Amino acid sequence: MQKLTVLGATGSIGINVLDVVSQHPKKFKIFALTCNTRVVELSAQCEQFKPYFAVVTDISKVKELKKLLKVASPNTIVLVGTDGLCKVASDKSVDTVVAAIVGSAGLLPTLEAAESGKKILLANKESLVMAGSLLMEAVNLSGGILMPIDSEHNAIYQCLPDQYVSPKESGVSKVLLTASGGPFRSRDKKSMREVTVDEACAHPNWKMGRKISVDSATMMNKGLEFIEACLLFGLSPDQIEVVIHPQSIVHSMVEYLDGSTLAQLSNPDMRTPIAHALAWPKRVRSGVSSLDIVSTKRLDFEPPDFERFPCLSLAISAARAGGSAPIVLNASNEVAVNAFLNNEILFTQISEVVELALKEVVSIEPNTLKLVQSCDRKTRDITLKLIKKHF
Ligand code: NDP
Ligand code: MG
Repeated sequence: MQKLTVLGATGSIGINVLDVVSQHPKKFKIFALTCNTRVVELSAQCEQFKPYFAVVTDISKVKELKKLLKVASPNTIVLVGTDGLCKVASDKSVDTVVAAIVGSAGLLPTLEAAESGKKILLANKESLVMAGSLLMEAVNLSGGILMPIDSEHNAIYQCLPDQYVSPKESGVSKVLLTASGGPFRSRDKKSMREVTVDEACAHPNWKMGRKISVDSATMMNKGLEFIEACLLFGLSPDQIEVVIHPQSIVHSMVEYLDGSTLAQLSNPDMRTPIAHALAWPKRVRSGVSSLDIVSTKRLDFEPPDFERFPCLSLAISAARAGGSAPIVLNASNEVAVNAFLNNEILFTQISEVVELALKEVVSIEPNTLKLVQSCDRKTRDITLKLIKKHF
């Protein structure tokens, strides 16, 4: 029986994880569930899964959660804040931690899980982009396992050999990171200025949280995934090629020296990578129907348009620059996306804000958690000021 903590249980990834878990009650047991504000949803999940702990980070919601749980799951203990998240991410009874909090708020509990030698199912790409080497080092030192559930990285994982150590040793020449192109794949550059929040959040193939939906629309999501792939698989930026694939059936590919290219294909449903990572090295049902390849008919591939999607170029440049550039990219993007969601800046200004922040913030060598956090905070302050001044 695998005991699980789901960080960010009420989000789009969290809900999909619990869907897979509910199909295998003999294999998985929920130890803890967490949310930020949506305590009604968390309480309903606790009623179904009866976890030992429920964690809420928004202090103003604690009373309400306790009241709800008295009826829904009286034995579930309520914990609060980042300390609560870190406790359930590192408790010795836990085998597996699903890191599905959105944004940099996921960093500390994910790092805690890594230091405690857990199997981590990583969705929270922002924590890897911010503190990649610290996180990878913590996993290696503690003997933990890092399994990506971001669909592209899970696909790459599946296309690599079991004992993968480095691209060189396994004869990997290149990784082809696929991207749907988002809702504005064929929208002309001029009209991008008028994009509304609702349009940006309406992804053609995936139903996701609002932040990642906007990231997909700007293609910053693919940029963050580019950095994520470098860190997870020890790839240099030159070994990754972004390919637009509108159908979202091929979730990424690995090219080998001998001319072979391996791909992972499935319907676009996050329960497939989640089930793969949960059951690995075995396989379990996910609830996703198998691919009907004949009725799929077409699989199209094209190069990305860096001019219409400047966030993608900014992220690739940050990957090449290394150091604190990915931290600045991630933090300024979180602030800019938030400003766009609050109708404070235009869609096309997200990339302009990030570009300004990358020029403004002094770069450092972020080799401790303190330095990472201070660079993240500084970038947020500077970005807020830049938005006030320029937009
Ligand atoms: P959602 O916005 O749907 O869910 C986010 C979760 O994090 C919720 O449980 C939310 O709680 C919680 N949360 C938000 N802010 C905080 C905070 N400050 N402190 C603690 N918890 C917080 O996001 P998604 O599920 O879409 O995405 C989660 C992560 O997974 C992101 O990093 C994203 O990039 C990644 N990912 C998502 C994919 C998808 O298909 N959705 C695909 C691949 C990666 P509450 O509900 O109370 O607000
Ligand atoms: Mg992805």
